[in-house]
Amino acid sequence: MSRLFDTHCHLLAVQFNTDSGTSLILPSDIDFLSVGTEPKDWQNTLSLSKTYHQVSGAIGLHPWFVNDNYRLHLQSLEYLIVNNSTISAIGEIGLDFSSKFLPYKKQQLSVFEHQLRLAVQNDLPVSIHCYKAHNETLHLLNECAGFGFMHGFAGGSQMAKQFIKQGMLIGVNGVLLNPNARRYHQMVQEIGLASLVLETDAPYGKNLPASNPFDALLLIAEKVASLLSCSVDEVIDQTRYNAQQVLMRK
Ligand SMILES: [Zn+2]
Repeated sequence: MSRLFDTHCHLLAVQFNTDSGTSLILPSDIDFLSVGTEPKDWQNTLSLSKTYHQVSGAIGLHPWFVNDNYRLHLQSLEYLIVNNSTISAIGEIGLDFSSKFLPYKKQQLSVFEHQLRLAVQNDLPVSIHCYKAHNETLHLLNECAGFGFMHGFAGGSQMAKQFIKQGMLIGVNGVLLNPNARRYHQMVQEIGLASLVLETDAPYGKNLPASNPFDALLLIAEKVASLLSCSVDEVIDQTRYNAQQVLMRK
């Protein structure tokens, strides 16, 4: 039986009630890259990845959590990364230029660049959140030679192709399950399986079944298979292979 790979989820999120990570019951047929987004998540994400064989951990300073203390936060992030070989990626990091976070645009850019450089120095992939900031993200990836995952990518086919050229895989999530997400469907068809990975972004992602948010992963794989006229197993195997290639580069 093929195993699914969820390349972006927040296993520490309050909805999962897993402050220490120890009470978490995970479906046994899925592997995860769980991302931490702010300093209070980082130690727990590391513990989670040590406790659960099927969980890889990513830590990073998300653009929403960039505040006046960012220099201090970057220092502790760097300390953790240099001293923990179990970290699989830096994420969730990126740029968010929605109006709420624009006051910190300058700081966001410098925090993102710093983390990209840190990732490359440590030969780690990144998991990127990008909102209304595609050109800036692309530019910094190019400057720093970063590689990894564009999480929940919604920038359309042309932009997706530019990110792929830059060494990124495109993460697709439950938005794909919207019947009228035509632009998103078209993007999947144009870029093809070789550059795709799957993700739930649980518990925050769209179209997650209330009974078990991770059930969405198979539904997304089925949707990709129907869009590309291939088998679901092919989608599961190839997207898993893609994810592992990036994560095992270290
Ligand atoms: Zn996320």
